[in-house]
Amino acid sequence: MPRPLHPAETLLARESGTSLRHAGRTAVLCYPNTYRVASSSLGFQVVWAALDGQPGLACHRAVVDPQFAGGPGRTGTALESGARLCDHDAVLVSIAYELDLANLVDLLRLGGLAPLARDRTAADPPVIAGGPLTQSNVLPLGPFADVVVMGEADHVIHTVAAWVADGLDRAAVVKAARDTPGCWIPSEHGDAVPDLLSVGADCLPARGAWFSPDAEFRDMALLEASRGCPRYCKFCVVRAPVAPMREPELDRVVAVLDTELFVAAPRVGFVGAAVSDWGPIKGALRAAIERGKGVGISSLRADRLDEEFVGLLHKGGYRTLTVASDAPSQRMRGKMMKGLRERHLLEAARLARAVGMRQLKVYVILGLPDENAADIDELIAFGHRCADEMNTVMALSPFVPKLHTPLAEAPFAPIAETMAKIQRVQRGLKGRVEVRFDSPRQAWIEYRLSQGGLEAADAVLAAVGGGQSLGAWQKAFAALDGTVPDGERAAPRAAQRHGLWTLTGAR
Ligand code: SF4
Repeated sequence: MPRPLHPAETLLARESGTSLRHAGRTAVLCYPNTYRVASSSLGFQVVWAALDGQPGLACHRAVVDPQFAGGPGRTGTALESGARLCDHDAVLVSIAYELDLANLVDLLRLGGLAPLARDRTAADPPVIAGGPLTQSNVLPLGPFADVVVMGEADHVIHTVAAWVADGLDRAAVVKAARDTPGCWIPSEHGDAVPDLLSVGADCLPARGAWFSPDAEFRDMALLEASRGCPRYCKFCVVRAPVAPMREPELDRVVAVLDTELFVAAPRVGFVGAAVSDWGPIKGALRAAIERGKGVGISSLRADRLDEEFVGLLHKGGYRTLTVASDAPSQRMRGKMMKGLRERHLLEAARLARAVGMRQLKVYVILGLPDENAADIDELIAFGHRCADEMNTVMALSPFVPKLHTPLAEAPFAPIAETMAKIQRVQRGLKGRVEVRFDSPRQAWIEYRLSQGGLEAADAVLAAVGGGQSLGAWQKAFAALDGTVPDGERAAPRAAQRHGLWTLTGAR
């Protein structure tokens, strides 16, 4: 009778595009969230491919996922081997969200490493971090890492891979990083963070390395059809001044569709902050559909949609059309420079209904500066108009001001106030629109981390030690500066019922 497979073995067997390599040296690439989320990150896949493709180096992966409890892949060990992080030649970390810092502490600690760089020894492997979090406030990440690669690491990752393949120890990696553009060495530079690295369109299209039925983007090979954005939304970290739009030619994107991984994949995901602004997007969708693929797009602007575009999405398997209003009213969309009108959103609903889609999903940010009751009334009225067109889901997210945006200094709305707005929208749309929401309490933790300095790493450690409840986070931040959050006691228990408190899991 064959031995039953461990969950990690089952998952790797179901994955396409990867194979276990053996080489002189081994790195472990960590994503401090679940396998489902990690495997839907194109950046994670691109970095893995660069490391695993380096001669003399094999790259394994580690995530934070309850399904691997007790075997390979359990927190702190590699999925592929079950070896602890400390037993690898280097630990790489790809991190996207502030809240994943808590998972990073678990990863390092259970992986046999002190979470803070200052507590690790010369014999420990170097810890080198990077990822989307570096585009907003990277300071709380600094104390956990020896080196942080800032911004777009497409080129520098090959240099890093060579360091690991050459067997550089912690001290040697730090020394090499001193002469490498875009590398922040927190123990030496303090909060003087270098400029973000940025690459040209020649790096595009970046392509995924595997697909899996267990990924959030199920059975989807990922392809970065554009990078950055040509627009100026005031709340966004990838707005044009920080991350200008870069666009590859259509034939380079189509050529990727004929490579081995994409031929094998049932679906193709076109990834990018503003893919629907990429000129040839319809041609790329058509090419994928002609090859028998389902399609996915990571971002759709309602004012870019027309009959042909929505028809292609439907042919490619779309049943829910997802668009962003990103503000509750026309007045607020204008103030945020969203450049979108209600008629664009309603037209998107009409187009989706016309081709036979089942649902419209609209993202809305609540708690923006200067937002008032009339804005919420307008949102409710808009929800009813959408529901007149088709079945609608509204997804509400509390506003979190981010560094490198014009709203970096904006206030965070009190938890109770945002919760009251959410409840008002729920009441106003009851029976007509399904209203989902992200937890304002969790958003408050994200806010505090997005405003924090290097010392916020201590708050992360304390909160993890305290069990990561809201109270543990409040206590941890209060120990730093004596502040308490406004209105947390008024937050209702409904959010807990939605299971939104956990800091580990797909968002
Ligand atoms: S919110 Fe979207 S459209 Fe606006 S700047 Fe960001 S990526 Fe671009």
